[in-house]
Amino acid sequence: MINEFYQKAFELDKKDELVRFKEAFVSEPNTIYLDGNSLGKLPKKTIVQTNALVTNQWGKGLIRSWNDHWIDLPQKTATKLAQIVGAQPDEIFVGDSTSLNLYKLAFAALNLNQSKKKIISDNLNFPTDLYILQGLIEQQFKDHSLKIIESQDGITVDEKQFEEAIDNQVALVVLSHVVFKSAFMYDMAHINDLAHQKDALFIWDLSHSVGSVPVNLNESGADMAVGCTYKYLNGGPGAPAFLYVRKDLQKQLQSPIWAWFSHQAPFDFSLDYQPKDTIQRFAVGTPSVLSLAAIESGLDITLEAGIDRLRTKSQHQSEFLIELIQQLLVPQGFRIVSPLNANQRGSHISISHPEGYRISQAMIKPNDESKVIVPDFRPPDNIRLGIAPLYNTFTELVDCVERIWKIVAEDQYKQYSTERLTVT
Ligand SMILES: *Cc1c(COP(=O)(O)O)cnc(C)c1O
Repeated sequence: MINEFYQKAFELDKKDELVRFKEAFVSEPNTIYLDGNSLGKLPKKTIVQTNALVTNQWGKGLIRSWNDHWIDLPQKTATKLAQIVGAQPDEIFVGDSTSLNLYKLAFAALNLNQSKKKIISDNLNFPTDLYILQGLIEQQFKDHSLKIIESQDGITVDEKQFEEAIDNQVALVVLSHVVFKSAFMYDMAHINDLAHQKDALFIWDLSHSVGSVPVNLNESGADMAVGCTYKYLNGGPGAPAFLYVRKDLQKQLQSPIWAWFSHQAPFDFSLDYQPKDTIQRFAVGTPSVLSLAAIESGLDITLEAGIDRLRTKSQHQSEFLIELIQQLLVPQGFRIVSPLNANQRGSHISISHPEGYRISQAMIKPNDESKVIVPDFRPPDNIRLGIAPLYNTFTELVDCVERIWKIVAEDQYKQYSTERLTVT
């Protein structure tokens, strides 16, 4: 059976119109990387560009490089990112982390919508999003309450629950567009409509969707959004995040952090604060030039490949991977814990097994000549197989499933410790 899959994968790889992008990234021999949903690969061009920037712009240009190269860098990056998320260049701010950007927007939204006291999220959301909301309630919005919509199966959320939950008392809804564990994807336009019918504001977290699924913030009527650039966009570890606020909402929202880069004229050094009128009113301090510059080639590659083509390939690969899992791994006790409907799913497939952690360790650190396979692990027992259509091939998916099958069939995982590493 596995040979048939290899044959099919070989044909599909041959026909793949995006296959050339694999070469744009650094690869380790004998290694299959299926964790692009946590940290994307390094584009080769980023090495060259970063080297040149450090050597010339920093090394030689020093302070003069601010005017020559750096001061417009956040806006230049925002312009490219805007195309990827279906927004206008003056609706995107690039900088800080996703968590911090969510804090700024959630604070501003709750402040604007003071007469309403309910906040809604769900129990599939990324923990940092919930922590930020809990902290805001504890420290600033003490009369507010957070309602968590519960997933019934731990994989999907019935969107009908929002029809009931979003009433006239709801100030703000915060959801991940694609949820981090199961890859369930919300219908953004539909949920935006529900919120707008009740005058609730909305923040989407796009960390697991940007660069892998089409996002159209303008067309779907989104109010606000935040997201990472270091996952499917390949911007590098801890790369600056972004935030989006639709144009007509920008001046009504005030960032809780008043700082010089959000001031109308930072270099006048005035002692009184006057926020900018633009999206830059959400800036805080000096932009992180090195990591900002490192995002650029990842964005260029995504734009060149085209988000629709990436989505098509990702769905095709996901279906292929699901078929492999169903044929080979389900009989071994694995469960697929991602939606089976491709339209409700982002670009990773989660599988669960009671020995998930040790199996993932055996994949990453084989004791023999087997290929190294890098997925990630999410407690209690989820192995996430992230498909990055820019650089993953169909053949790699067969390799991966064959390897997992062998680890379990030969009890190889038993040689590994159950003790968790700090970063999984
Ligand atoms: C990865 C991720 C984050 C990460 O936030 P940081 O501030 O960059 O650490 C936040 N939200 C979601 C949904 C994520 O997937």
